[in-house]
Amino acid sequence: MIWKIAAALFLGAFTWTLLEYGIHRYLGHHPRVRKNPFAKEHIRHHVEGDYFAPWWKKAAAAVALAALVIGPAVFLASLWTGIAWVTGLVSFYLFYEVLHRLEHVHGGFGAYGRWARRHHFYHHFVDARFNHGVTTPLWDHVFGTHRAPEVITVPRRLMMPWLGDLEHGVRPEFAGSFALKKKPA
Ligand SMILES: [Zn+2]
Ligand SMILES: [Zn+2]
Repeated sequence: MIWKIAAALFLGAFTWTLLEYGIHRYLGHHPRVRKNPFAKEHIRHHVEGDYFAPWWKKAAAAVALAALVIGPAVFLASLWTGIAWVTGLVSFYLFYEVLHRLEHVHGGFGAYGRWARRHHFYHHFVDARFNHGVTTPLWDHVFGTHRAPEVITVPRRLMMPWLGDLEHGVRPEFAGSFALKKKPA
């Protein structure tokens, strides 16, 4: 029983990584569904850089998703494995939210944090057709949308406080991985 619960938790987290990729790539960026509520919030996040959708919208979406899948999950598995799968899914979604927020507002933490930020910032500042995954590059590799970033050039209006300032440019510790766009002459 216990290994079943553990496997269901893991599978739930794994399911989230695919949802994260699919929601971001299609609902967030596909031109045919540009008017959906997620796309509106997501495009604003791209344009403003430090904008995140309000927490109550995210919570409502998470509760709606959990409510939608818990019935079928319990029906297809069993009560506790179904609950474990949904718990894994929602927990990893919360992990994604925290990681994504930190990538934008925090100076960086550990090798994974540094990797995740460069992977995501390639998507923001270099080419939004690539690197849709936030917690893992797995699905970008599977669906051919992975790009390994070189030096990432950040537009001046989107400069982040942890990265440096407009007067002095990028802090020395980020010099090999980020650059600030040159002032127009
Ligand atoms: Zn972002
Ligand atoms: Zn995006």
